[in-house]
Amino acid sequence: MEQVGAIAVKESKLHGKGIFANKDFFENQTIMIIKGEVIDANECIRREEQENNVYIFYMNDDCFLDTAQTQTIKYINHSCTPNAYVDDNDESSLLLKAQHSIQIGEEITINYDYPEIFELCQNLNPDCNCPFIQKNP
Ligand SMILES: [Zn+2]
Repeated sequence: MEQVGAIAVKESKLHGKGIFANKDFFENQTIMIIKGEVIDANECIRREEQENNVYIFYMNDDCFLDTAQTQTIKYINHSCTPNAYVDDNDESSLLLKAQHSIQIGEEITINYDYPEIFELCQNLNPDCNCPFIQKNP
């Protein structure tokens, strides 16, 4: 499948930059292949903590995919009502797929699904549907 041109990186109303559909996608269609550097769990923790790397995708309990050097997928934003999801592909890549049909021009989002992002989303998004995170007193 030709991937070039299927998505565009633009300013987002959600946060910073986001990725946007450059064409229509149907439910479960592959939007793009997510490539990056495969790293283990210890290196994932080290990069997140020491380098503030927020561009690492979960593959399995031992393998993570660092997309910091990419020009597109690293800009995908979190949403509690996402229109895309991440699926397995092979040992060195993942697939970004459409959760339901997506129209050209729509921002493409996924649910990051970890507590820190839920808390951030609650603070930024008045319509947030993330699981409620109890704040420390
Ligand atoms: Zn939310």
